[in-house]
Order: sequence, then structure tokens, then C-alpha cells
Amino acid sequence: MRELKYCPHCRSKLKQRPLEGMNRIVCNRCGFIEWENPSPVAAAIVLLRDEVVLVRTSYHLSEGTWGLPGGYVERGETAEQAVVREIKEETNTDLELIGFVGTYSLRKKDINLLYVVFWGRTRGEKLRPGGDVHSVDLFAPEEALNTVGETSLSGQAILDWMRLTQGVRRDVQ
Ligand SMILES: [Zn+2]
Repeated sequence: MRELKYCPHCRSKLKQRPLEGMNRIVCNRCGFIEWENPSPVAAAIVLLRDEVVLVRTSYHLSEGTWGLPGGYVERGETAEQAVVREIKEETNTDLELIGFVGTYSLRKKDINLLYVVFWGRTRGEKLRPGGDVHSVDLFAPEEALNTVGETSLSGQAILDWMRLTQGVRRDVQ
């Protein structure tokens, strides 16, 4: 996120000061506050039979690395609607949502995102990459975890999902 220098409303020079528990960029003239709220992203752990769908994107945040499919929530959309739409775009399959996994915050340099992660399944046998995605593949859950890395955001979500679904995963396939 490029730091704002001038107020978008009155063009005065912006200042930094503590406000509601954080240092924030504010305009002392008109009262504008740059809250820097994160953008919501919806993603999912998608099962096809007993394997997890991972995608590789050409998107600059994750160039060349595997991760969970998903994308930005559009205006007027719920996270549930967004994740179904994104999975269709990125993998050409219909996601049947089963449950919620958790939310994850990603904040570094110019990245300021809140991931909302669901899990579900697809019966689509014809996985095909689309949109920003250039590869789609299936991985056994443990293999998916190793591929994305336990410390990555996708890895944290996969770990939480494994804990959450221990013992029930087999029943939904
Ligand atoms: Zn101002």
C-alpha cells in the first residue's frame, strides 16, 4: 500500500498520530482518517474425492507458488458467493460449500488482506486453470500442506482444517 501524503478530500499534508490504538495517517484540517482496513479475500480448501485442489497463479503476490484457490470479494458480494465464483473461474469446477475454516490476516509491505477460508467439495472431474491461474492440481492433504508450507497462509488454513475435520472428513466424501 503506497502511503498517502496528501488528503484526498482537502489536499492538505497528512500527518501520523496515534488514534484508537494505532498510529494512523490523518488530516488535521478536515478530519480525514486513513484507516487502512484490509481487503477481504475468500479462499477454500476444495476436496475432489480425498484430495485437495491447489492452484499456481501468475498473480504477483504468489507468483509461481502453490496455494489455495480464491480471490477478492467483489462489492455487494458475500464471502460465500465470492469463493464459489472464484473457484469456478480459477479451476472450472463448482464448489459445494461444507463449512467455515477460519480467517487469516496478511499484512506486509503493500499487502493488507483478510482471508476468509471455507472448505467444501467438488464433483468436477475436469479441473482446468482459468483467470490468473496457470496450473491446477490435486494433492493428498499432507502433501498439500508440504507443498504450500506450514507457515504460509494456505498452510495455516490447511492445518486448521485438518484439526477441525479430524474424524469427520471421511463421512463427507
Ligand atoms: Zn483533509
